[in-house]
Amino acid sequence: MKTVRHQTVHQLAFLPRLFPVNAYFVEEEDGLTLIDAALPYSSKGIMEAAKIIGKPITRIVLTHAHGDHVGALDALREALPYVPVYLSARDARLLDGDLSLDEGEPSTPIRGDIPKKVKTRPDVLLRDGDRIGSLTAIAAPGHTPGSMAFLDARSRALVVGDAFQVRGGFAVSGQMRILFPFPAMATWNADAALESARKLAALKPSLIAAGHGRMIQQPAAVLERAIRQAEFRQGGKSHVAANRS
Ligand SMILES: [Zn+2]
Repeated sequence: MKTVRHQTVHQLAFLPRLFPVNAYFVEEEDGLTLIDAALPYSSKGIMEAAKIIGKPITRIVLTHAHGDHVGALDALREALPYVPVYLSARDARLLDGDLSLDEGEPSTPIRGDIPKKVKTRPDVLLRDGDRIGSLTAIAAPGHTPGSMAFLDARSRALVVGDAFQVRGGFAVSGQMRILFPFPAMATWNADAALESARKLAALKPSLIAAGHGRMIQQPAAVLERAIRQAEFRQGGKSHVAANRS
């Protein structure tokens, strides 16, 4: 595991070469908010990293319910039984094995590794705009229907889960990057992801901290380029669909 810090955000990168997966600590005065729980074996590294920083883990926040973001959740719950777990109400249903779609949601299938064996359930069901310490929860559907990003009000650092990928080439969720195709393969709806990408870029983040790949400082230009690429592809697709109908 490798750790990198930008201001209040600490990145914990697991398996950086084969299948890099990140978890994050957002540092508060009195403790650490863990964002995402990486892979099943990651709990030890997460606990050790907190010890090195010297603050207790006081909250566990999940960006979405895919296996590589909730992997160590049960082990962490065992080690930290009183630490509350936060997840969007929408993605909490995925943990229960409910892959049904709501009325009004695009009818593409929910994809990716939805873990069947995770026992821990969220204590707090998040809605758009909820505050968690210095963080604001921002609904960012697309990768999964209940995906969320978290904006640090102090620095405008934005932890995005898989709403964007960095590894294999920066991209909006759902846009294939052949060098690291997994996030795109696991994305529910690329049009919704593009809309969320525009919403996240409009927050003018100072830092993008994604689930796969390094952190990006001052990401405005990178975000704009990735959104333009996705608009070109998705726009082309809806044009084709319109011609067919
Ligand atoms: Zn994912």
